[in-house]
Amino acid sequence: MISPDSPLIYHGTPASEGIAIGSVRLISSESVSVPPAIESDEAEDVRLSRLKQVLTRVKQQLQGLQESQSSKEIIEILGAQREILQDPELWNRMEAMIVEETRTPEYAIYTAFNEYIQLFTQMGESWIKDRVVDLEALRDRLIRQLSNPEAKETIQPGSVIFTTDLSPSQMLDFSESNIGGVVMQHGGTTSHAVIIAQSLGIPCVVGVDWRPSQLDPFQVAAIDAGKGEVIINPDTRTRHDFLRRRAVAEADQRRAMTLGRRPNRTACGTPFHLRANIEFERELKRVRDFGAEGIGLLRTETLFLRQEYFDTARHLQLYRSILSETGTHMVTIRLLDVGGDKFPGKNLDEANPYLGWRGIRMLLDQKKLLDSQLEAILTAASDYPGRARILVPMVSDLSEFRQVRERMQQVIHRLKARGIHLTHPVPLGIMVEVPSIALQARAAAAEVDFFSIGSNDLTQYVMAADRGNEKVSKNFYSGHPSVMRLIQMTWQAASEANIPISVCGEMAADPLLAAALTGMGIRELSMSPSSIPAVKKLLCSFEIKTFRELLDSIIQAGDSEQARASIAAWQQQYLSVQSE
Ligand code: PEP
Ligand code: MG
Repeated sequence: MISPDSPLIYHGTPASEGIAIGSVRLISSESVSVPPAIESDEAEDVRLSRLKQVLTRVKQQLQGLQESQSSKEIIEILGAQREILQDPELWNRMEAMIVEETRTPEYAIYTAFNEYIQLFTQMGESWIKDRVVDLEALRDRLIRQLSNPEAKETIQPGSVIFTTDLSPSQMLDFSESNIGGVVMQHGGTTSHAVIIAQSLGIPCVVGVDWRPSQLDPFQVAAIDAGKGEVIINPDTRTRHDFLRRRAVAEADQRRAMTLGRRPNRTACGTPFHLRANIEFERELKRVRDFGAEGIGLLRTETLFLRQEYFDTARHLQLYRSILSETGTHMVTIRLLDVGGDKFPGKNLDEANPYLGWRGIRMLLDQKKLLDSQLEAILTAASDYPGRARILVPMVSDLSEFRQVRERMQQVIHRLKARGIHLTHPVPLGIMVEVPSIALQARAAAAEVDFFSIGSNDLTQYVMAADRGNEKVSKNFYSGHPSVMRLIQMTWQAASEANIPISVCGEMAADPLLAAALTGMGIRELSMSPSSIPAVKKLLCSFEIKTFRELLDSIIQAGDSEQARASIAAWQQQYLSVQSE
């Protein structure tokens, strides 16, 4: 541990801008852990009742989950998990630990499940392996449900969380404690936990090599996430400097909001549209403040993160509220894109979750869930004619889109029979984020109503670089000529078929890449609301032909390094003149 007086400086990669000063809070690992041999001074009946309650709650959750499934296999797995929870031997073992050994319910669950797991593992049969994964998932779910409410309370508002990595649902949980910021050892800048941090305005730095032995909860951390700076034990001068930086950033933001009211036109008068990527209702204020023209991407998976079953009322409420708060603008609602680094991918324990049961693949295996979401969107859309569009994530084969189109027709028929009419068609489009679809863009453009380019996933699949892994972050570059060429092919196909096309991945929020996309012909970009002013400022400053020069130099580049150099040269030629 360092002395409380000596500052310690770490550097990492900026992931979500902002400045925070707060006490250090260490969250060492994502998996649950229970301190060994915990004895409890809580009354025996309280401990037993906590155990019973958590078992009942999880049994109900599993039942809800089972009812929302159409895959026979998954229904069976969930059924097996419920059976485990009803096993009298397991109960007897846990009860004995609580009554005879005065253990906590967390310890009893942890130990009893581990004994089971050991027993199964020793049997060595291959089918047992799956059962072990189930048991571990169930054990962790029970312990989290028991301990999470307490864990949340102990996080002081304003704390700076130091962690190895966070899942999207953990980021969401921590946000409720009004944390000051997050410093992660791992995590890429386009991971979903980071995207949530951006949406909620939580400063976040990734790829920081912090050591538990150097930190303790009595220390203070100052972070300037936009610069990737993390300082432990900042001295008074540093604290003042960080507070001054925060004041400057807030003033910049106020100025940026004024810019939001000017029309979106390039210097040669070409109009363009800047829309918002959001996932929470509370972001609507920022959508208005930064002058976004409606919603280019409503991510809906956070509604599902902690729910684990489809809650029609919650979905309807969110969709209606967003449609009613965005004037006459378009709202693009994406179907659930769970999997990858978003629940339940992690719990499935897939070797390659990003290449696994994700997005539309999962929804087509769970048609009840797909129908429920289509029904909720279409019901909300019927009250706002011509305002909503539906976006299908992770399409890798056009047959997937056709199946969704067919399901959507059936849902529309059912709604009609119930007296819910759509006076305007609701366009159904696809995320172009898997190379197989981009390569087939012409065929796709003939069938779908619109394209939205998901450059985060497109880049990870084209470059074979995990978007959440900071070790390969230099390989993950959306300005790579190969990614740009694929986007250009997709744009070409959309133009020929005369269908709308937008870019909603993080590259749209990078002013220089946004300028290159505008040079290509793309007129619709969607990004986190706070990124709008910087993009708008650049796009309003030059003519399309200048952006085309930038695009051409990127497309002609031989590799990432040359592409970055071309962008830097363009910047030097035009932006240095501008700032003189
Ligand atoms: C993308 O992949 O670029 C995208 C916008 O979707 P998400 O980040 O939610 O995967
Ligand atoms: Mg994506």
